[in-house]
Amino acid sequence: MVRTRTVEIVEVGPRDGLQNEPSVFPTAAKVEFIQRAIDAGLRRLEVASFVNPKRVPQMADAEAVLAALDRRPGVHYVGLVLNRRGFDRAAAAGCNEIGMAIVASDTFNQRNQGVSSEQSVADWLDIAKAAHSAGIRPQVTISAAFGCPFEGEVDPARVVELALRAAEGKPHEIAIADTIGVGVPSQVTDLLGRLRAALPDMPLRCHFHNTRNTGLANAYAAVEAGVTTLDASIGGIGGCPFAPAATGNIPTEDLLYMLQRMGVETHVDLDKTVATGRWLQDQLGRNVPGMLVKAGGFPARAA
Ligand code: MG
Repeated sequence: MVRTRTVEIVEVGPRDGLQNEPSVFPTAAKVEFIQRAIDAGLRRLEVASFVNPKRVPQMADAEAVLAALDRRPGVHYVGLVLNRRGFDRAAAAGCNEIGMAIVASDTFNQRNQGVSSEQSVADWLDIAKAAHSAGIRPQVTISAAFGCPFEGEVDPARVVELALRAAEGKPHEIAIADTIGVGVPSQVTDLLGRLRAALPDMPLRCHFHNTRNTGLANAYAAVEAGVTTLDASIGGIGGCPFAPAATGNIPTEDLLYMLQRMGVETHVDLDKTVATGRWLQDQLGRNVPGMLVKAGGFPARAA
């Protein structure tokens, strides 16, 4: 397989990163977080989720965040939605891309979005249609694609089956997510190979968590398999409120460091991303999991 020379990073810190924070992150700080990431060169950002604020209080200010952003051309402001009501909110708030999730296991889908996986497939197809007619770019993630906290091992054939059905909605891309951070690189290679065989023309994105320290190795495996878009979160913050013991996404700056030293183009500034990780650490008042926030890049650059 030819190694990818350009990788697009989707910054998920403002949504997936912050959603698990116990204390509410102020709206103005969320807006600053997003603007800093854009200043660093990130052009696709998950900025909010349009879900029930009673279930995810951290995202209750989704509309206020969107309203306060200083929009820039060429930037995709992604809203996570889990049903039609969420889509309608994201569209009204001005998201120019929406991401929907379908969980590969029924138990987790019920816990995460209150309906069966089958219902989420139907909801996705309805949302995708509405998004296309509204000029909003839709994409979809198959969550818990590498393992489920409630059902255990997930059959890769189930992931492929869901991806095939999701493809009927003509998404911009399909992502596979290791929501609880149990995957290993050989699994990434295997699952991506199966998806490529089933959907040869569908762009694929990967979303990894570093719960068991395999996140960056999984990202490497995905890049080697030809994936050109990866999710990451500045500082490596994150988790899932409905998955026990789920921890952070792969840190954006750690991923950037690896890719840049491999000669992969990302169009993102490492120093600015590290600085944002340090800023985030100050805002949260505790250490973030990312390593570059502590170590900095190499070779060190003159200040
Ligand atoms: Mg996640």
